[in-house]
Amino acid sequence: MPIILDGNQTSKAIRADVRREVDELFTRTGIRPCIAAILAGDNPASQKYVSMKERASAAAGIVSRTYPFPSTASQAEVEETLAALNADQSVHGILVQHPLPKGMNEPEVLAKLLPEKDVDGIAPISMGRLLAGMSAFHACTPAGMVELLHRYNLPIAGKHAVVVGRSVILGKPLALLLLQENATVTVCHSRTVDLASITRQADILCAAIGKPEFITGDMIKPGAVVLDAGYNRPEGASKDVGDVHYDSAFEVASAITPVPGGVGPMTIAMLLRNTLRSAQRASLEA
Ligand code: NAP
Repeated sequence: MPIILDGNQTSKAIRADVRREVDELFTRTGIRPCIAAILAGDNPASQKYVSMKERASAAAGIVSRTYPFPSTASQAEVEETLAALNADQSVHGILVQHPLPKGMNEPEVLAKLLPEKDVDGIAPISMGRLLAGMSAFHACTPAGMVELLHRYNLPIAGKHAVVVGRSVILGKPLALLLLQENATVTVCHSRTVDLASITRQADILCAAIGKPEFITGDMIKPGAVVLDAGYNRPEGASKDVGDVHYDSAFEVASAITPVPGGVGPMTIAMLLRNTLRSAQRASLEA
């Protein structure tokens, strides 16, 4: 029976640590960490994520502000608010909720975000710094996946990690983080030929595809660690599933993340911790 990598419990423990450190920072310096979210458009998943973030921030003692824009807003309007938040010293973290509405150039907007406030870790400069081996905030979902491996003492160095998916927010930064942890990393995508022959070589198999139950047990090496970032609601289904077919993967994996309750809850924990770190850094410069 595999180890179930419990993202709910792990996230809870991290958020409790963040709360303690937030209170300590406030008592010592009077600074309370603050995160601002730019929420443009009416994507229901984005609205849900931002309201979850607001609740989690409040529970961690972090101030949370949301700047909503209609999907008809112009990129210039969003960038004007972003510039004001960059300049606002009471704001320590800025989240530009992905995806921005059609017609806005997301990389162009993210490029205007100050790297020291990019607590979501997806601005081009943060990615570049990660690639260059420089300090930067790391993209929250991939960072949460690596954190889960650490918290369960699952070794990464020397392991063959296969990442299926190469999106800017997930697959690519995950591959870089695993490489930084000295894994041997293979990245697969929609043009990969004979995917199963590669996934079957993985000691650590990471699914970041966006296709329900796409990775099945026969695509997994016995004893592999399986991290499933996927979060999908198949048509007509009443519950969410991952990119991994859980029941068949469960039969072969040595450790596995459930969906829900695996990778998902780790993202907000990483976001709150990054916001705290940004505020701690600002307090040293004040
Ligand atoms: P995305 O931008 O759509 O990227 C999907 C990736 O999967 C692409 O790189 C694509 O390859 C690859 N892919 C698609 N079909 C494939 C196939 N048949 N074989 C191999 N690779 C294939 O998705 P994303 O934003 O990275 O999200 C992926 C999943 O993670 C989704 O289920 C999403 O809901 C979930 N997610 C969860 C969290 C969280 O838990 N906090 C956060 C973000 C995302 P190409 O590049 O060749 O198109």
